[in-house]
Amino acid sequence: MYLCDLHSHSKISPDCDVPLREMVLAAIDAGLQEFCVSDHHDLLDYDGLPATVFDWPAAKAQYHAVKEELGDRLTLRLGLELGSAPYDPGAARMALAQGGEELDFVLGSLHNWIGFRDNGLLDMTSYRGDEALARLAMESTLDHTWTLVAQMPDCYDSLAHVSYPLRYIHNDGIALSMEDYEERVRAIFTEVARTDHAMEVNVWHGADLDSWPTLLAWFKECGGKLVTVGADAHRPQAVAAGIPQALEMMKAAGFDYVTTYERRKPLLHKL
Ligand SMILES: [Zn+2]
Ligand SMILES: [Zn+2]
Repeated sequence: MYLCDLHSHSKISPDCDVPLREMVLAAIDAGLQEFCVSDHHDLLDYDGLPATVFDWPAAKAQYHAVKEELGDRLTLRLGLELGSAPYDPGAARMALAQGGEELDFVLGSLHNWIGFRDNGLLDMTSYRGDEALARLAMESTLDHTWTLVAQMPDCYDSLAHVSYPLRYIHNDGIALSMEDYEERVRAIFTEVARTDHAMEVNVWHGADLDSWPTLLAWFKECGGKLVTVGADAHRPQAVAAGIPQALEMMKAAGFDYVTTYERRKPLLHKL
């Protein structure tokens, strides 16, 4: 089994204060063969205001220093979790261009409302007792995810945590599920597969293992071949948490390979 974790944060992300060195040491301790740091660059900030600048100089300096010190103990990659790309395609493409040759991997994600609720955060919204609002969150997320995969395929390699708002909707006691949106999700997956992109199994440091068997089955039926895995760690203890289970789920769903990326090109590793 090829142990890899392609979704992890460091102090470059606004919601994490851990130096990359500590995350990589945790990855080595967990027995990972490959680890990708994917700090946040959301084109909308916590207040819903436009944010166009990612601190590439700091991200690259940290990455190169850690790679030089620890890199041959595992394969270390430089990634980016690019949020809300459909909000500002020009800014998204500029950030990726600035990543340049060193950028290995891009997760396409969405953490904000776009066009509703002052473009605030989906996870800071209270859905309690408001199923209509929860449905609006899902529909908005699926709309913008469709825009990303259909119109901006250059702006992501793997589609990150496609069921993201459900984490928070479920916490607020509302029983929506991806099955309620199966047709739309399958259309998205078909486009992801058709354009040779990947789907991410985001196990959220082991807290979300239940969503993925169904989504993996749909992705496979839609022609999907490339799947990445990520624990979405924001602290060292969460690095690789749930990754072995993710790889087992992939096997059970009939996938033979897990995918990693180098310079934005997929590499397949036998499960
Ligand atoms: Zn995310
Ligand atoms: Zn993340």
